[in-house]
Amino acid sequence: MDKITIDKLKVFCNHGVYEEEKSVGQNFYVTAELYLDTYPAGISDDLSKSVNYAGLCHDITRFMQENCYNLIEAAAENLSAHILAENTAVRALDLTVYKPEAPIGLPFKNVSLTIHREWQKAYIALGSNIGDSRLILDNASEKISAAPEIRLLKKSSYILTKPYGEVEQEDFLNGCLEIETYFSPQHLLEFLHKIENEAGRTREIHWGPRTLDLDIILYGDKIINGEFITVPHQDMHNRMFVLEPLCEIAPYAYNPVLAKNALTLKNELLQKV
Ligand code: ADP
Ligand code: MG
Repeated sequence: MDKITIDKLKVFCNHGVYEEEKSVGQNFYVTAELYLDTYPAGISDDLSKSVNYAGLCHDITRFMQENCYNLIEAAAENLSAHILAENTAVRALDLTVYKPEAPIGLPFKNVSLTIHREWQKAYIALGSNIGDSRLILDNASEKISAAPEIRLLKKSSYILTKPYGEVEQEDFLNGCLEIETYFSPQHLLEFLHKIENEAGRTREIHWGPRTLDLDIILYGDKIINGEFITVPHQDMHNRMFVLEPLCEIAPYAYNPVLAKNALTLKNELLQKV
């Protein structure tokens, strides 16, 4: 991808753990590497199709001066969220905050933190079979789309499905969302668990009844086999209640482990049942 770099913008501001840092202030430097497609601006010579780097320098300065954080981690995280929200053409960002005057009491050249944040397309399966399931799924979608770290791109309709597994229980209402997020897969899952808990989700019976189930089906082309997270979702190809809503909004969504798209997986599952 193409890249625009703002290199070591100097900003006098008041971030720091110590009281004196907050009251007196010091010089910070910010480097922002913005990844985007500059081709549309390149062929049209039109600034509105790219990032106005002069405007962005003033915006970064204002943001760093109007806010006051203890940690450069917090300064970088919040500044990065602000830049990604305000500049929709930017797909990814490397942001470095330097603090060369940090009160360390030893000779040193610089201290800095670099973070990388990147929009990734992901698919989330929704399910509920306790309570007012339609309302529960609607509320969950709203909470997901309200997060600054997430943009809701598409929402499937809801389908009523028979329960999966051996447990006797009510029918489920299922749906699927296409989102863009700069949460990491792990932080996205934590965020989804929080929404499940707020809906009163308990985990007594595996595959048992639940007020709300939110699963990460796909996350970009990432393959993760962690202790607490598996992506792509390991059972997606066996679940018509996942594949049907997924195919409605994204038949070409690709499972990099099975090397097949959603439509192929759905057709294969239809042959089996
Ligand atoms: P399921 O959704 O498969 O019916 P649960 O909702 O009870 O089952 O989830 C079981 C566990 O699976 C959760 O504790 C969760 O942390 C873990 N998990 C692993 N990978 C994923 C994923 N991609 N999406 C959602 N949960 C996942
Ligand atoms: Mg789940």
